[in-house]
Amino acid sequence: MPKLSELERIVIDTDTCIGCGACVATCPYQALELDESGKSRLIWDLCQSDFQCVAVCATKSIHKASEASAALKSKPWFKFSKQLSPEEQREFEEWCKKYGVTAPPIG
Ligand code: SF4
Repeated sequence: MPKLSELERIVIDTDTCIGCGACVATCPYQALELDESGKSRLIWDLCQSDFQCVAVCATKSIHKASEASAALKSKPWFKFSKQLSPEEQREFEEWCKKYGVTAPPIG
């Protein structure tokens, strides 16, 4: 199993997402859900960087973290499935630094 900080993950543009649910249906790890407004949301700790969601999104609203703009990485698009352990929290912070993520988790 790769470390949490080694997985690249995705960034979702919630402005262009139309809530079709294709990404949610295609993710083999159940790492995506539709939020209260019908927009796609990433469940950060479940993502395994499978990237099928990037390919399936008709509005090109999902980007690999390394390819997303700083503006997108500053707007919240992800949450955690659970309370992170201190070690997981460290991995999360390492990931933020590596990919330039400034948005806080939702919730
Ligand atoms: S596939 Fe794209 S448009 Fe459809 S819910 Fe997912 S992010 Fe939104």
